[in-house]
Amino acid sequence: MGRRSKCCKFSWFVNDGVGIGCAIFTYLLIGYAEFVVVFVMLLPEVVRAAAFGLFHATAFTFFACLALVAHSRAMCSDPGSIPLGNCTTENLKKLQLKEGEVVLRCTRCECIKLDRAHHCSTCERCIRKMDHHCPWINNCVGEDNQKFFVLFTLYIFTISVYALALTIRQLFICTEKEWQDCTFLPIASAILLMIFLVFEGLLFGIFTLVMFCTQVSSIVKDETGIENLKKERISRKNTVYENLQDVFGGYFSISWFSPFSSGPSRRASYAFHEV
Ligand SMILES: [Zn+2]
Ligand SMILES: [Zn+2]
Repeated sequence: MGRRSKCCKFSWFVNDGVGIGCAIFTYLLIGYAEFVVVFVMLLPEVVRAAAFGLFHATAFTFFACLALVAHSRAMCSDPGSIPLGNCTTENLKKLQLKEGEVVLRCTRCECIKLDRAHHCSTCERCIRKMDHHCPWINNCVGEDNQKFFVLFTLYIFTISVYALALTIRQLFICTEKEWQDCTFLPIASAILLMIFLVFEGLLFGIFTLVMFCTQVSSIVKDETGIENLKKERISRKNTVYENLQDVFGGYFSISWFSPFSSGPSRRASYAFHEV
């Protein structure tokens, strides 16, 4: 078991101060957006039981919850760690190596360094198909949690665009009516809160869009961020659809977009996994 990573049957958590701080900050940002959209902008319409207000308050909260679930699952899922110290004679035998075949061993976690695995110095573990270590989710993005990370970027992008659209509408409509009809807060406070929301929406909307596109491109090409940086050439046999299925799980369906359903775990396919 690594100094920083705790991995048991049900949980995984990286004990890294910077990452924990970033994760808490992420939750605060989502909470702030939810507060401004629902309580500052839509509340007067919700109180009047106007369909517009009720619909958008519910829909925004729904997407914000999906972002939270995707984040929590990306953070608390084992990204594909290789068990510490599994480079034993017994496990090497299980690999049934042919004459002259070479197996790499990680000197830091004493494990069999599988093809396409990399050692993460923050998690202090070797991670299968490690893409990068992301402080925002306080975890590595690897083979087993990439789906949750992609969904996290997708839903943060969705609520960013949603919040921007609702703020623009609010500003247009409210300048035509009395401000008291638009928000229960004093005008100056409401405007200040909305300006911060626009800033947050633009910043994180652009950031997550770039991240989402980079991730989808790496999944489609079956090339991790590290392999891309190192210009490592991997022989790939799978089709684009197979690559997507590998990450999102099974045939294309609504479950590809659900952070509640896990992608297929390949852990069982490694005979020497349990040591
Ligand atoms: Zn290692
Ligand atoms: Zn890591």
